[in-house]
Amino acid sequence: MSNISNTRIDADRLWDSLMEMAKIGPGIAGGNNRQTLTDEDGEGRALFQSWCEAVGCTMGLDQMGNMFARYEGTDPDLLPVYVGSHLDTQPTGGKYDGVLGVLGGLEVIRTMHEQGIKTKHPIVVTNWTNEEGTRYAPAMLSSGVFAGKHTQDWAYDRVDAEGKRFGDELKRIGWRGDEEVGARKMHAMFELHIEQGPILEAEGKDIGVVTHGQGLRWIEVTVTGKESHTGSTPMHMRKNAGRGLALITELVHEIAMKNQPNAVGAIGHIDVYPNSRNIIPGKVVFTVDMRTHLLDKLNDMVDELMEKAPKLCEEIGVEFSAEIVGQFDPPAFDEDCVAAIREGAETMGYSHRDIISGAGHDACWINDVAPTAMVMCPCVDGLSHNEAEEISKDWAAAGANVLMHAVLKTAQVVE
Ligand SMILES: [Zn+2]
Repeated sequence: MSNISNTRIDADRLWDSLMEMAKIGPGIAGGNNRQTLTDEDGEGRALFQSWCEAVGCTMGLDQMGNMFARYEGTDPDLLPVYVGSHLDTQPTGGKYDGVLGVLGGLEVIRTMHEQGIKTKHPIVVTNWTNEEGTRYAPAMLSSGVFAGKHTQDWAYDRVDAEGKRFGDELKRIGWRGDEEVGARKMHAMFELHIEQGPILEAEGKDIGVVTHGQGLRWIEVTVTGKESHTGSTPMHMRKNAGRGLALITELVHEIAMKNQPNAVGAIGHIDVYPNSRNIIPGKVVFTVDMRTHLLDKLNDMVDELMEKAPKLCEEIGVEFSAEIVGQFDPPAFDEDCVAAIREGAETMGYSHRDIISGAGHDACWINDVAPTAMVMCPCVDGLSHNEAEEISKDWAAAGANVLMHAVLKTAQVVE
């Protein structure tokens, strides 16, 4: 191939495949309900496999049901470049979350196959099992096992709301393979995904070059005061745990605002005791959720909370205690892979910006075991995990084109 930079994916073919996949497990409002390890998941997998085999791929399947469609390179001894995402959806999910990343990867192979483009490294299109985590918590379960975050036995023992085990359901739908999970080594891994946020569309950018994911800390706080009558307790004698909640709510907001851009913070779950209209709250238990993309900054945010919140509580005569109940350090994606995506956007003449992924993705786990990066395209109103999730054909094509150029560069096109 003399001028690879002019190569483009087939936008109509990609779009038609997205619509064809969306017919499997339709939702009730135009989206999809193709939850993991359902019959519909099995049907979607079979369709994906048939499409892969039609362009000469061979399908690998591991013991978590992760699918690996391999397109041979000119040097089979080189480690493959991986590309993919997930085909499972939320119960009221959209047609593009995850699916675009898998079928975008397939479109890269179809384009290579059609145009006779060869790479030295093999390319493998992957469908990771149970990214969504709705039927079986946690999210990104099988990429997590692949990256050594969870054991396979633990994953098999996850149960859904009806008490059905993950391991049993995987076997039932016929997609439990023999391959040892995580045994594959990767030269690199790329994931295309819709943004699931409003930034790209609001700024009129075609492409998000994902440099980091968000890390998070969940802190469970207990503020203890004294239950007493709201009518007969004089104001100066109250120990109102509800005020502690109010002050800390503001504090969390201030800390996040001080650490812009990309830091966020909120109080999500709140239990007020005794939760009666004429009793001053004696105890409030709530969770603080803080996230940002830099580890030092994230730890500083938590430190500031832990330093200031007890003082605020002391000033109003209530007690503060807290413990970290969940944490995930922010992934920083591989610089060379990120550069390949940025270069792909430049080559294609797309407007782009660096962006942080607010949501978790399979790429966040794989980043721990292989050089990884992500490319994002906009979605309408930033809406996702909703049947009304929408993207344009042009956005999908732009994302897949950038994905292709990043993959071709990394897998070394044979000129
Ligand atoms: Zn997703």
